[in-house]
Formats: sequence, C-alpha cells, structure tokens
Amino acid sequence: MDKYQVLGLVGEGSYGVVTKCRNRENGQIVAVKKFLESDDDAAVRKIALREIKLLKQLRHENLVNLLDVCKRKKRWYLVFEFVDHTVLDDLEASPNGLDYSRVRKYLFQIMRGIAFCHSHNIIHRDIKPENILVSQSGVVKLCDFGFARPLATSGEVYTDYVATRWYRAPELLVGDSKYGRPVDVWAIGSLITEMLTGEPLFPGDSDIDQLFHITKCLGNLIPRQQELFYKNPLFAGMKLPEVKELESLEKRYPKLPAATLDLAKECLQIDPDKRPSCAELLQGDFFNKDGFAERISAWAQGTKMES
Ligand code: ADP
Ligand code: MG
Repeated sequence: MDKYQVLGLVGEGSYGVVTKCRNRENGQIVAVKKFLESDDDAAVRKIALREIKLLKQLRHENLVNLLDVCKRKKRWYLVFEFVDHTVLDDLEASPNGLDYSRVRKYLFQIMRGIAFCHSHNIIHRDIKPENILVSQSGVVKLCDFGFARPLATSGEVYTDYVATRWYRAPELLVGDSKYGRPVDVWAIGSLITEMLTGEPLFPGDSDIDQLFHITKCLGNLIPRQQELFYKNPLFAGMKLPEVKELESLEKRYPKLPAATLDLAKECLQIDPDKRPSCAELLQGDFFNKDGFAERISAWAQGTKMES
C-alpha cells in the first residue's frame, strides 16, 4: 500500500474508511477503501470478500471500477478509480433538488448499472444517494457492493440484511425472506422525487414508522406482506396502520411532471411482482420520448472516448 500517497478522507462507513490517494508510480488519483481489521471480525471479512468477488465479476460503465485489491496487516484494501462526488453531495449543494434534465440523465444511468447487475443475477440492495458516484462530466458510477449479493437459489434464505431503511422495500421491512431484483427498483423509485425536490420520500425513523410512511402514500400492504408482518416477532404487539385517506404522490408533489410521478409509481408498486424490471423501464416512455435515450447513448460514447 506504500505506493499510494494519502491526499484526504472522502468517506467513512460502518466497515472502514475511504481515502483519496495518488499512485506514486503513475500519478493516478484513486479511492482506497480500507476495511476494519478483518481477521477477528467475521462480519467484516465476509463483507469485504463478498464485495471483492462481486466487483471482479461486474465491469460496466455505470459501476465503479475496481483497480486493485490487497491485504496488509490483516486489513483488506480495495483500490478504485476516483470518482468526483456523490448524488448526496449534489443534493447538499442544491437542497431544493436537481434539474429535471440532470435527474433524467442520472436515472437512466442508475437504471443501466442496475439492469447490468440484475442481468448477472446480482442485487445491489443498498441504492441511496451516497452510494451513487458522479464523475465531473456527469457519468454515474454505482458503488458500495458490500451488501450486494447473488440471487438466492430456490429454498435458500437471506439472513444478513441490514441496509438503509428509507430506501427499503415493503417486502424487506416485513421480513420476507423471498425477495429479489424488485428491491433495487423500489430504492430507485424512492430516489426519483428526492432528487427532484431534495426531500427524502419516506424518511422513517423506525421500521414500523417506515411502513406508516409507505402505506400513507401508496395504500395497504398486500396480503402476503400483512401475514408476514403479523408473524414477525419484531412487530409483536404492533398493528399495521389502517390508511383512511391516502396522501398520494400527486398530492404531495403537485408541481412535478406527470411522467415523473408515473415512473416513480411504477417503481413503487407495493407488490414486488408488479414492479417492472430496470430493463423494461429503460425501454419505456420516460427515457425514450424526445430522443433522450439516443442522445444520452451518444453522449456516453463520447465520454468513454475522452477517458
Ligand atoms: P461504505 O460501505 O462505508 O458505505 P462506500 O463504498 O459506500 O463504503 O464508500 C463510502 C463513501 O466513500 C461513499 O459514500 C463516497 O462518498 C466515497 N467513495 C467511495 N468510493 C469512491 C470512489 N471510487 N471515488 C470517490 N469517492 C468514493
Ligand atoms: Mg456506502
């Protein structure tokens, strides 16, 4: 690791720190993610090894590029291409939200990155503003594959899920062990209005509060989710909220274009089986009207040639 000169701290997460560094040999600016000591902590070890394995498989323009991996003094280090900033930084700089055209460009690339993961049977599981990197020229690179995992084969259940609550789909909140790609589509859905307004869509302060936010806007859970809720010991003694009057997305955001709200509503279907796939959404009207998809593909080709 001596060949990397530390220039500053860029991020601090639950499993380690990320620093901006310069490769002394070739001058390249990189981001180095250093995990906590991994030998005594099985969870950190598992997360580091999973992230390494997945990133080695997944190479795509809209996913962060892993350059190098090493282990020194019981710690794992992942070296990535350095990417300018995150969508969270953009939102902090523009607290009332980003322009429609920028949001459409980001969404298109987020969808492409996730569609690529999904086509390799990987779910990301932690899509949120701080895990979406953006280059100076506006190219989106998804990062943080620490929670990502391959889809379960039949009968296998997931046990270790802890990602961020605000972007969590209802099937995850009630503890459905059978979940899949649609959890990423939900997370993207909750980002759409947040990017345009600067306001998180469902900022729950507990899991039950998260369900309150969701059902208040989108209506009741489906029967399977209701059953799981009442069987889940985490919700013992609690009742599902009964929604009398919906505060729909249109009511909350009367100024947002109808096409945007339609896209958000498709991604935010309570029933995961009804959510379209990212590949389908990319073919939909939102990205294809007025020649947008072709323009952005031409632009992406151009930025690839620059770098
Ligand atoms: P954690 O699991 O700790 O959340 P992340 O991979 O999300 O780890 O990285 C934490 C933060 O570090 C990100 O939110 C981002 O601000 C920054 N970061 C991560 N990767 C890069 C990168 N390749 N280039 C620039 N900044 C990065
Ligand atoms: Mg992160």
